[in-house]
Amino acid sequence: MRLPTIPDLGDLAGRRVLLRADLNVPLRGGEVTDDTRIREVVPTIRMLCEAGAEVTLCSHLGRPGGRPEVALGMAPVRRRLAELAPGVELLENLRFDPGEEAGDPALAERLVAGHDVFVNDAFAVSHRAHASVVGPPRLLPSAAGLLMLVEVAEILSLRTAPRRPFVVVLGGAKIADKLGVVRAVCELADTVLVGGAMCFTFLAATGHRIGDSLFDSDHLADCRALLDGGFPLHLPEDLVGLAPGGVLGDPAAGGAVRQFGSDLPDGWLGADIGPGTAAFFADTILDAGTVFWNGPLGAFEDPRFAAGTITVAEALAETRAHTVVGGGDSGAALTSMGLARSVSHLSTGGGASLELLEHGDLPGLAALRESAEHLSLPTHEVDERD
Ligand code: ADP
Ligand code: MG
Repeated sequence: MRLPTIPDLGDLAGRRVLLRADLNVPLRGGEVTDDTRIREVVPTIRMLCEAGAEVTLCSHLGRPGGRPEVALGMAPVRRRLAELAPGVELLENLRFDPGEEAGDPALAERLVAGHDVFVNDAFAVSHRAHASVVGPPRLLPSAAGLLMLVEVAEILSLRTAPRRPFVVVLGGAKIADKLGVVRAVCELADTVLVGGAMCFTFLAATGHRIGDSLFDSDHLADCRALLDGGFPLHLPEDLVGLAPGGVLGDPAAGGAVRQFGSDLPDGWLGADIGPGTAAFFADTILDAGTVFWNGPLGAFEDPRFAAGTITVAEALAETRAHTVVGGGDSGAALTSMGLARSVSHLSTGGGASLELLEHGDLPGLAALRESAEHLSLPTHEVDERD
């Protein structure tokens, strides 16, 4: 894929840059508790400032639902940003305006007023056609930021030239959100390992008894079609279940925890892959050339059901394969285990990395390319990795 990059924008001395970043950081008591997302955009800020540009950042924060909400104001982010990258401005929370999520062109017009160029470094929201993502490239010369280029190159090279064997590990809660990516990786990967709550719709589709496990009857037929498609799709052969009456995330509520094969008794909830499956997943990861992982293999926030996710995360840290983790809860799991730095690439975008892997493009990237085409700006090839 070709994208316009910051050098393609020409001389930036004295020019006013609007920079869309993802500064959607966790807050507690009015303080930023994890500044990773702020630090990730600093190289782009520095590059723009060194070129003599005046930089104004914009981002959303949390889910204020189109209305100002005091607790989701940008002040704490602005304070941390001033320490990490002094001398830049930050606009108020974009999602205070209902036009942001609605993709309102009038909001984009207001955002770009007083700016000469636009840079999108917010990979994590570029799968959304939000006003600040797709609007500014229609109005200003635009480019991808440095973080965006890394994210796009990492994910696209999984589609175009993965070192083989290419192993994909998928887990997490909602099959509805991930069926598209399962379908796509079935074509791309040599092995697809499925765990997490989403494995139960697949197991049900093959006639297994899944007790009270999470299950999506709307997607049973899709799962069956994939399983019949001759793809290298592997389901768990053993499971960890929680007895009727037990509560996920609340060990004090009681409820026995037991290992099973691929069938669960009535009333039991499948909450993790079993140790045999975890060992098979780990061995497969250790022998891989490339691994992409998205979604916890069990309800890992509850220590009784974290073992499968821990085994997979440790194998990811240990393997010599090129390892890419698709953000979201899997990234949080890796970070909580202190293994975030042990993988080749931990994406800042959960949903965005899955959509880019599935479709090979995102609305925010298409907008940048169309902008360059319209203005006849140069572009650069971004998905070539050696
Ligand atoms: P990601 O953010 O990495 O894409 P998801 O948001 O799809 O992952 O899913 C993460 C959630 O899935 C976690 O909160 C985890 O507790 C839950 N989960 C995983 N396996 C199970 C399971 N077997 N039963 C219930 N919840 C599960
Ligand atoms: Mg999630």
